[in-house]
Amino acid sequence: MSLAGRIGIIFARKWIGGTTVSDALGAAAKLNAVGEKVIINYLGEELTDKAKVSKTVRTYIEIIRRMKSESINGCIAVKPTQLGLNISYSEFESNYEKIVEYAERMGIFVWMDMEDYITIDRSIKAYLHVLKKRRNAGICIQSKLLRSYQDIKRISKHRGIIRLVKGAYASHYGITYMKKTGVDNNYLKCMNYLFKSGSKFMVATHDDKMIGQARRLEARAHRRTMFGMLKGIRPSLARALIAEHEDVYIYVPFGEEWLEYSLRRLKELEHSMLILRSLISS
Ligand SMILES: Cc1cc2nc3c(=O)[nH]c(=O)nc-3n(C[C@H](O)[C@H](O)[C@H](O)COP(=O)(O)OP(=O)(O)OC[C@H]3O[C@@H](n4cnc5c(N)ncnc54)[C@H](O)[C@@H]3O)c2cc1C
Repeated sequence: MSLAGRIGIIFARKWIGGTTVSDALGAAAKLNAVGEKVIINYLGEELTDKAKVSKTVRTYIEIIRRMKSESINGCIAVKPTQLGLNISYSEFESNYEKIVEYAERMGIFVWMDMEDYITIDRSIKAYLHVLKKRRNAGICIQSKLLRSYQDIKRISKHRGIIRLVKGAYASHYGITYMKKTGVDNNYLKCMNYLFKSGSKFMVATHDDKMIGQARRLEARAHRRTMFGMLKGIRPSLARALIAEHEDVYIYVPFGEEWLEYSLRRLKELEHSMLILRSLISS
């Protein structure tokens, strides 16, 4: 790695678990030591090279094996386009199934991350296919999408396990909410549904308003949810939830593709600062 790369990674370490499987498991063990569970993700997406897809599958198999042997408390998260969705649906489905099947034998849960809107139908199709045989799998749904409430209802009918996020991908007229209030209101609507009619689910956000409402609904509905946060974003909030006996998972991405991921987090930080500044100055 170049000198610039090495310097960059020192800063990015706040958000990523390093570049190797051993780095990621080391970061996971540290989080476990303070009561935080982990969701380990091997960075990389939009793969079109079969050799790279195979390497990704092998890496996940190694992570699962080592999570089990090193007693790491947590699960993994895979992205459809890193398992071959851009090569063919069948390539993706068989790789996904292979990982979930091996993870089931090792007692590890597998989340499917959600990517750009054009991948959603095929991602849900593969998830529902695997869910017919295995229960150690869950899927991410983005409140930013106009369709998500219906997707959640459909997946819940199959007792699917949902991780609710706002969504990190680009906005499109007629497909996503274009304003933050739309995304937030839909998040609250989807969360309400999950508390009433959903199977097990995760509230994955750093937003005080969403977390506060989730905690009120926990008390009202007499049921618990899981909370999910990204590594390095509001760690004191994660610790405060643990102190209140909540079940908290930290998403730990790792791998050579750390730059693009870190830039995405920087963009969100910049966006949050702009909102904060506009609130202070109004
Ligand atoms: C466990 C987990 C899994 C995820 N999986 C996916 C996925 O599969 N697909 C997908 O599209 N998205 C995923 N995301 C990302 C998600 O969609 C959002 O982009 C991200 O969580 C920011 O949204 P928010 O809910 O925290 O709310 P926001 O309204 O964006 O932020 C709420 C508050 O959090 C703080 N904050 C947010 N970002 C930063 C930052 N970078 N630095 C410092 N503070 C910050 C600020 O205080 C901000 O006011 C995931 C998020 C989590 C937590």
